[in-house]
Amino acid sequence: MKVVLQDLTKIFPGRGRKSKGDVIAVSDFSFEIPDGKLIGLLGPSGCGKSTTLNLLCGLEQPTKGKIFFGEDDVTDLPAENRGVGMVFQNYALYPHLTVKQNILFPLENLKGDAKLSKEEMLAKAQEVAKLVQIDELMERRPAELSGGQQQRVAIARALVKMPRILLMDEPLSNLDARLRLQTREEIRRIQRETQITTIFVTHDQEEAMSISDLIVVMKEGVVQQIGKPQEVYDNPVNLFVAKFLGTPPINVFDGKVQGGRLWIGEDDVLAADGIPDQEVYVAIRPEGFVLNEQGAFSCELKRVEVMGRDISVVSVNKASENEVIRSIIAAENKVNTGAAKVRFDLKPNKVFAFDRRTEKRLL
Ligand code: ADP
Ligand code: MG
Repeated sequence: MKVVLQDLTKIFPGRGRKSKGDVIAVSDFSFEIPDGKLIGLLGPSGCGKSTTLNLLCGLEQPTKGKIFFGEDDVTDLPAENRGVGMVFQNYALYPHLTVKQNILFPLENLKGDAKLSKEEMLAKAQEVAKLVQIDELMERRPAELSGGQQQRVAIARALVKMPRILLMDEPLSNLDARLRLQTREEIRRIQRETQITTIFVTHDQEEAMSISDLIVVMKEGVVQQIGKPQEVYDNPVNLFVAKFLGTPPINVFDGKVQGGRLWIGEDDVLAADGIPDQEVYVAIRPEGFVLNEQGAFSCELKRVEVMGRDISVVSVNKASENEVIRSIIAAENKVNTGAAKVRFDLKPNKVFAFDRRTEKRLL
């Protein structure tokens, strides 16, 4: 089912004497989510991700704008009639019910024509339990399950009614690192198998990049960029997006464009054809550095960290905004760790320049 957001806006009124005024939690969000895709909604804490999900499932009413599921305008439809499955960070299972009873719960509350027989309900519960691989745990209670298993139960409960769309709000945040990896792959598999249009909220850029068909990057209620993960990574529209995606993070420098060349400090590092002379932010991905003793970009070498397949060359430069510059280089390159300086060539497609005022991308 495609989902259309049209100028979706949510303003929370400021309350109390200390209030800084109204909060624009979501601002003019317009997007057509293609049918059957997994969308990663990504941004720092407080940027409006949960509010967007709450608007979609009907827990909040928009201040302005509309929501369509397929051709249906659902903006004024009560939450229980929207056919949305919701999964939360804290699982929100009923502790006194077994796994089976938790999964059956949404079916038992169906009314009228939608009502199912006991056998039909059990068959459906069994089917989704199998899908999320908890069918052996049906008689246990939540307290007898690991975090990852509990989250699978929550996913099964969200799926059992065959929702039109599935919304997940930071579903992996309470899991330890290994389970997080495993569960995110499971979510991807389940989404592919069911083909349910899914919106997955996270503040973790790696998580969003790894499982999404499309990512939406938000900042302070405003959508910054929408695209395939690799496209957004390779072509960030502004400095915020460039900094938000990638580990280790992108390296940012004070620089300038002069006479069609890009400068960082005293170093003329690359061509910058067609860009008027101005001060800029220069941002270089860690994988954008190539060791070269005659390289144009000179830094002060701090240390070399071995990471197996790669090495991380840690250096400093007066023009750097970050405390240190991290460059990731294939391990077969040898670095003279005793040297005071290290010089690099830069890969042009890994270097961006941004306007100092608007922070929009120039190069
Ligand atoms: P995220 O999920 O990205 O962390 P939220 O959507 O929860 O962000 O919040 C977005 C902004 O809206 C924040 O500034 C938050 O404080 C504010 N906000 C969220 N819910 C409410 C509410 N019920 N009343 C007032 N302000 C709210
Ligand atoms: Mg949130």
